[in-house]
This record gives sequence, C-alpha cells and structure tokens, in this order.
Amino acid sequence: GSSDAEYDVVVLGGGPGGYSAAFAAADAGLKTAIVEQYATLGGVCLNVGCIPSKALLHNAAVIDEVRHLAANGIKYPEPEIDIDQLRAYKEKVIGKLTGGLAGMAKARKVDIIRGRGEFVSANHIRVALTESSQYEQANETGEHQTIAFKNAVIAVGSRVVNLPFIPQDPRIVDSTGALELRQNGGRLPEKMLIIGGGIIGLEMGTVYSTLGTRLDVVEMMDGLMQGADRDLVKVWEKMNAHRFDNIMTNTKTVAVEAKSDGIYVSFEGEKAPQEPQRYDMVLVAAGRAPNGKLCGADKAGVAVSERGFIEVDKQQRTNVPHIYAIGDVVGQPMLAHKAVHEGHVAAENCAGHKAYFDARVIPGVAYTDPEVAWVGVTEEIAKRDNIKINKAVFPWAASGRAIANGRDEGFTKLIFDAETGRIIGGGMVGTHAGDMIGEICLAIEMGCDAEDIGKTIHPHPTLGESIGMAAEVALGVCTDLP
Ligand code: FAD
Repeated sequence: GSSDAEYDVVVLGGGPGGYSAAFAAADAGLKTAIVEQYATLGGVCLNVGCIPSKALLHNAAVIDEVRHLAANGIKYPEPEIDIDQLRAYKEKVIGKLTGGLAGMAKARKVDIIRGRGEFVSANHIRVALTESSQYEQANETGEHQTIAFKNAVIAVGSRVVNLPFIPQDPRIVDSTGALELRQNGGRLPEKMLIIGGGIIGLEMGTVYSTLGTRLDVVEMMDGLMQGADRDLVKVWEKMNAHRFDNIMTNTKTVAVEAKSDGIYVSFEGEKAPQEPQRYDMVLVAAGRAPNGKLCGADKAGVAVSERGFIEVDKQQRTNVPHIYAIGDVVGQPMLAHKAVHEGHVAAENCAGHKAYFDARVIPGVAYTDPEVAWVGVTEEIAKRDNIKINKAVFPWAASGRAIANGRDEGFTKLIFDAETGRIIGGGMVGTHAGDMIGEICLAIEMGCDAEDIGKTIHPHPTLGESIGMAAEVALGVCTDLP
C-alpha cells in the first residue's frame, strides 16, 4: 500500500466516542481522519444501539399509552401492526442521524477512510479497505492504505458477548438481530426468552411484548437491572409483571438446543423449571466485550488487558503518550454519553491543551415503561462503601401532573451526604425519568444542597417538579402544590 497521508489525529472507530473526538479535533484546527469499517458513522449507538431501540420503544410506549386510555373512557381498537413499515421507520431514523454525521464530517473536512484499521507501528495504521451496505457487514476490497499520524484515538468500542454453549440458529439473536424484527419468517415470536436481565434485554423485551410476544427472562444475579436501587426496580417490576410468564433470577442458562419446533433451553438455579423450556426466539443480552484486542494495539506498544480493555489516565492517554483511548473500550459504564465526553477530552489533549475527564457522575437509564434512571451514589453503593447518607423521597402519587397523566406509580429519590448536606446521588422511576435525571446530575456537579434544589422554582405542574419536591421533603418543608 501507499503511505501518502499524514494526519495530526487519526481516530480508529466512528462511534459516538470516535466522531466526537474527530469533530472536536477538527474544530481545534487539526488535520483529522476517522477510520471506520462500516458504511455509516455513529457506531453501535446510532446504527444498532441507543437510537433504533428508542425508535421502537417510542412506538411501543404509544401503543401502551393508548391501552391505558381505555380506563379513561377512550377506547381504540387493537392496533394493526405492519412490521415492515415499523422497521422502515426505524431505518429512516437511523438514516437521518448517520446522514447528519456524514454532513458534519464533511463540513469540518474530516476524512472518512472506510476500512478495517490496525496499528502497524506507534505512528502508522494500515487500513484494509472495505465495502459495506449494512452495519455489521463489511467486505474487504483487497486494497490497503497506510496512514501516518501524530496522535491516534482508539475508539473501537465493544461487541456482543457470545455464550459458548449457544448454537448458531436464526431464531437465536443478539440485540442487533432483535432490532431487525425479522424472526420466524416475518412473524414476531409468540414466546421469547431473554438471557440477561440488564437494560438492553429489558428494553428489547418491552418492544416485543407490546407487539404481542410473551416473555421469560433469566438472570444470574439476584435481581433485574443491576446497578439501580431495588426500590426503583420494584416499581418497574410491578408495572411490567404482565409481560412475563417467568422471571428467573439467581438462575443460570445451562443448555440451549435448536429443534425444528423451537429452541429448548435448560436452566439451573433458584427459579429454574425442571424441564427444558420451548421458545420461538431467544435473545442473548448477556453483556458486551471490549474490542481492544482486535486493532493491533500491541504493535503500537499500547497495553491491552486480558479481557480486551485499554487502560487510560484522566487525560484519556494510554501507556503510549500520543495514543489515546475512549468509549466502551476503556471500561464501564459502556454508555454513549460517557464515550462522547471522553472523546472531547482526548481531542483537547491532541490539540495541546490540558484536559481531564473529571465527571463526578455518569447517569444510567433504562428506557423501559416506566423508565428507571439513577446517578451517583445509590443506596446500594452507600451501604457497600459505608457512606453516611440522608435520603428524601417524593412519591409521584402526590404529583398533580403524574396523577393527571394517569401514571402516578413513580417516585423521585435524592441522596445527600450526611456530613456536608450536598447531593451525591439520585434516582427516578416513572414516565420520562430519563429526560429528567440530567437535573440531578447538574445538581451533583454543582455541589448543590437540598436548599439549592428545593428553592429553585420548578414549573408547575410537571414531573420534573418532583425533584424540587424531593428536596423540600429533605428540608422538612410541606410540599403543598399537587
Ligand atoms: P462503538 O459505538 O462501539 O463504535 C465503535 C466503532 O468502531 C464501530 O462503528 C466499529 O465498526 C468501529 N471499529 C471497531 N474496530 C475497528 C477497526 N479495527 N477498524 C475500523 N473500525 C473499527 N448507550 C447509551 O448511552 N444509551 C442507550 O440508550 C444505549 N442503548 C443501547 C442499546 C443497545 C441495543 C446497545 C447494543 C447499546 C446501547 N448503548 C446505549 C451503548 C452504546 O451504544 C455504546 O456505549 C456506544 O456506542 C459506545 O461508543 P464507542 O464510540 O465507544 O464505540
């Protein structure tokens, strides 16, 4: 191959971390390229993650909302669902966003090099050029290009973990397969098993369930949605019990057999049925593995852990000072908003500024119905790490807006440091919780106490008001607004 191009910054991977780093580097005046093996920018998040899942979840939530209206005297017939059209809607959403990114790259003169990149030295990446029409599919053209860089940013993300005992079968899918809505010859499955009771599995389960699929879920840990406090999850569980035939916590999947009439799965553990269970479809959502070992990082001298993570300092630098790493490949939480912030830090350092990743907290959200959102110190963490806290809870049963919406099952919880009185965590369960948790993040970053939050005038009547109300609960003020 030729070695004609030299860049100030080469970003390996075009996901949320990668494109954010590249755009910020270009904005700082650096000559920048992105190497991406698939046809579109946006990575997992835009193509097969955050965005398509939310496009489907939105439609599911509207269907569920319409069903709730029956109790208010407004009755619609059961919806007629055209899966092909729904899929086309989802693809249109993705296309709008990835197209927007391509335009933003062009406007900044960021070169996009389509291919699979591998470090060949501490200053060179060799790219096997690819052609692809679909995300997660790329054919090498046979041509190569070697590019030289002053700085590199590794943003290669993560991939689905495949469990070794699970056979290959079109009825057994990962999150990408589930988002395709293509199983069983175009018909959605009657009965689906979700392996892994985390956010991704439960979000996809919500979509399928609303479209008519019965669910089982199996989880090795003692509860679903690990990371969130149990009191939040309990509300979600109560509202979603109708979707599930069997919630198997503390249970292991031990065998999966593909037969002509279905997928037969055997379990072991607390809630395990004795007999193998039959499913039309199985969604494997048992976690994601970092791609650090798949990009020749060792040839650049970059240390990669046994599991494939790349260790970085607070400036996002690897052990090789001019090579940075960001996003899912540097560790948990594997979330797009973390990747974006890390990308900006890496770009600023490439431009010679000193920037540090020093976020106090990173929020987590399950975009289920109701949504579950949490940030910072949870009650679970406080207990584990012996942090003395005060908590304040505002039940949405006292929120005028939640009652008017017919959705008052939720609550808002704030967690304060018992010594300083400052807010250090919070959680919300209820409709739109994910849209509101950002205020609690800001309060934590700003070092607010209950008075700062409680005396901030929130608009009435809103669900967001529940954050101010929870702070007033902490202050012992009577909340008299519902
Ligand atoms: P990725 O998005 O994984 O992008 C890495 C890119 O690098 C890929 O495009 C890949 O093709 C490319 N690449 C890798 N190796 C090479 C190579 N050698 N050469 C060339 N290109 C390469 N997060 C949220 O915050 N909110 C959500 O609601 C959410 N929902 C999700 C739903 C699902 C179903 C899934 C699977 C994930 C979800 N996530 C969500 C997680 C989110 O998608 C990731 O945290 C995010 O995409 C990580 O960004 P990244 O830039 O690190 O890597």
